[in-house]
Amino acid sequence: MARTNAQATRTKPADTELILLEVLRSERVTPHMTRVTLGGRDAARFVPRGFDQWFRLFIPVGEASVRRMPSKLTTVSYLRLLAVSRTERPVLRNYTVRAHRADGPHGPELDVDLVVHGSAEDGTSGPAATWAQTCAVGDVVGIIDEGCLYAAPDDTDQVLLVADESGLPAVAGVLASLPRDARGSALVEVPSAEDAQEVDAPDGVEVRYVVRTDPHAVPGRAVLAAAREVAVTGAAPYAWVAGEQGLVSELRRHWVQVGVDKSRICFTGYWKVGKAH
Ligand SMILES: Cc1cc2nc3c(=O)[nH]c(=O)nc-3n(C[C@H](O)[C@H](O)[C@H](O)COP(=O)(O)OP(=O)(O)OC[C@H]3O[C@@H](n4cnc5c(N)ncnc54)[C@H](O)[C@@H]3O)c2cc1C
Repeated sequence: MARTNAQATRTKPADTELILLEVLRSERVTPHMTRVTLGGRDAARFVPRGFDQWFRLFIPVGEASVRRMPSKLTTVSYLRLLAVSRTERPVLRNYTVRAHRADGPHGPELDVDLVVHGSAEDGTSGPAATWAQTCAVGDVVGIIDEGCLYAAPDDTDQVLLVADESGLPAVAGVLASLPRDARGSALVEVPSAEDAQEVDAPDGVEVRYVVRTDPHAVPGRAVLAAAREVAVTGAAPYAWVAGEQGLVSELRRHWVQVGVDKSRICFTGYWKVGKAH
């Protein structure tokens, strides 16, 4: 994870043990997003928390990878993981719960939406984005629940949500979890108009997709410009931003400048241009 104030605001779960799951199915839901549905194995142990609940995702690179996944992620177990040979070391990335169903046809199910970025052929696609395109039914992955970052105080009277496409699953989760009388706005940048998704939002929260018109532009720049135009009118606003690091840092700075209290801003750099996680 890039820069964030997550440590100050997050709700970390008590049980952070490894949960093994299998790929039940995968589907390209929009041109740049693949939805992988996970379940089976330890799925009953997963506790859904709504909002922007995220988790560590261990993606195997071979059969031996599964037994290399640590049962808990600590500094020591992470250093041990780094010492494992590349041919066995599972890929470790961060993802969000897009949806959870307690009663799927195979038991509890969890949807993960992975942005398909770059190209697997020329090596510009990261391992997770490549896996999103190549995973097969029955593939085993490991997840460790990390809880939620969104933590609006009870007195919040205006919610501001801003993200690039990597934060779309989190925005969707927050919108679905908000009290139905919440007010505010959600702005999400997407690579094409077809990447917009239906979301379940309170009537008082305006949801707007900002389409990136230049395919070579750094993700997040377009929504940054749009978000700067949104007036902060609440007496007690809560502002949340996730996505490319530049978007996150600059929007946080803007919100502070227009008077949002730093303690009421949740900012999380989900990824950084040119830097593998
Ligand atoms: C708390 C949290 C929750 C997250 N939830 C989600 C989620 O639900 N869905 C999701 O898709 N992502 C999510 N992310 C972001 C995801 O972890 C990163 O995008 C990750 O780097 C992808 O791994 P990779 O192996 O595909 O690419 P990496 O190996 O990490 O990077 C390879 C190259 O791809 C670039 N890159 C990485 N991500 C993107 C991107 N989204 N668009 C364009 N270029 C990129 C990098 O800059 C680098 O040059 C989340 C991140 C955090 C911290």
